[in-house]
Amino acid sequence: MPSSEQCPYCQAPLQGLPSRKTKCPSCAAVIHLKTTPEDRTKRLMTDAQAADAERAWRRHHALAEVERSLATFGRTDRLLELRAAADAGEVERLAAGIALEVALGHGQPSLRKMAHLHLARFMAKRGDEEFRGHLRKAAYCQLEEVMNAGLGIDMVDILPGADDAVCLATGQRSVPIHRALREEPIPNPRCPRGFGGVSAGYCTCMYVAAKAWFERR
Ligand SMILES: [Zn+2]
Ligand SMILES: [Zn+2]
Repeated sequence: MPSSEQCPYCQAPLQGLPSRKTKCPSCAAVIHLKTTPEDRTKRLMTDAQAADAERAWRRHHALAEVERSLATFGRTDRLLELRAAADAGEVERLAAGIALEVALGHGQPSLRKMAHLHLARFMAKRGDEEFRGHLRKAAYCQLEEVMNAGLGIDMVDILPGADDAVCLATGQRSVPIHRALREEPIPNPRCPRGFGGVSAGYCTCMYVAAKAWFERR
């Protein structure tokens, strides 16, 4: 069957669709073989088209990620704005703005917690030490959740994060809420866990209502 494939630069006919990135036998330019989120069939592209395709994929993946995150803090109603964003960077900046509104708002502590965790990830990915402040506020929201439960729970257990070697070594322990509020044992500043652009301090420990409190009932 005669091939209808052409070099995207010089339009010279090619012997079938190359199976990978290749050099055009006529003009020697590099021909890329790529898909886009809108059209998943592999096709031949120039350098510029390939760069556009990669940008489109980065934007696509960023959208999928913030979509999941927005669901955790209850703002999927803002997705339309994000879909209008030009690139992955803008998607992430817009989502961070929405997270900040939720974090500083007066919604449920569970939603504010998820918004702070989103912001902690956003900052840490960029190597911004501000992530620590958002982890602290997320931890505070967890204490609020327990206090707001209306059961009079006055104690929490610290569940060590799965990869927090140092926190794990400390083991699970119970603390009175008034002490947790004052001493802020979470996030553990000595946690060696890194994330994104930060090399340590990304503590994923959590507070939960103390098991002992329920056992005392
Ligand atoms: Zn060519
Ligand atoms: Zn930790």
